[in-house]
Amino acid sequence: MSNRVAFVTGASRGIGHAIALNLCQANYDVVLAATKIEGNEQIAEELRALGATASTVNLDVSSAESVKETFAKVLKDKTRIDILVNNAGITRDGLAMRMKAADWDAVLNINLNGTFRCIQQVLPGMLRNRWGRIINLTSVVGQAGAAGQANYAASKGGIISMTKALAQEVGSRGITVNAVAPGYILTDMTAVLPEEIKARILAQVPLGRIGQPDDIAHAVKFLASEDASYITGHILSVNGGMYM
Ligand code: NAP
Repeated sequence: MSNRVAFVTGASRGIGHAIALNLCQANYDVVLAATKIEGNEQIAEELRALGATASTVNLDVSSAESVKETFAKVLKDKTRIDILVNNAGITRDGLAMRMKAADWDAVLNINLNGTFRCIQQVLPGMLRNRWGRIINLTSVVGQAGAAGQANYAASKGGIISMTKALAQEVGSRGITVNAVAPGYILTDMTAVLPEEIKARILAQVPLGRIGQPDDIAHAVKFLASEDASYITGHILSVNGGMYM
């Protein structure tokens, strides 16, 4: 059989980028998706240097049309998607009392609805093939909550429950559905936090360091592998111990 095809959303930067590169190194045929990733020379060069079997596609998970079109194109080209990593996500933090409806909607639409939209595109093929891996990125905030992040916490908590529901729905067809819950990881998303907040978060991490995108990618790579074939409906915390 040819290499398994893995589709990673939000693969232009940060955690999604690290996941895609790790899957390339593990010999998956990787599709890297983000809103503007086609023609990104830096990423193309990285993939060439790895000798990877990989391609890039533009995808906006907030748009049902974009999701439908992009997955149709990839499925036509690759004939199947074996592994879906739903990593695309955003934050629009603010106190609940003043939170704008647009900020609530954007976060729910991209993080939660976007994840479900992508899952719907791959399920028919996975059900037919009786094999599949769906790996969703949730967050420690979806597990424990966080002040100023009601929208983000709701989206990530929703991902946790959705992961468990789907795991029950498709388990008998050889498809596993799991989530990875990162703690505090060094990416563009966290780089913008004020120093004082960063220090406060770090003080809650027993392992005493900020996580790296590769820390998350290694967990995703494991869940995608045959070694994880008896794990489903699981929320794997990768957070240096900040939430147990
Ligand atoms: P990041 O550096 O901000 O990167 C976000 C990625 O998502 C980018 O590739 C971005 O691509 C993509 N994206 C955003 N909106 C999109 C859309 N509408 N359609 C398609 N792609 C979109 O974030 P990160 O820190 O790597 O986070 C990755 C995931 O891990 C997120 O789900 C996040 O919630 C979760 N997480 C992160 C942390 C952390 O500490 N960093 C902790 C817990 C959970 P473009 O902008 O190029 O389209």
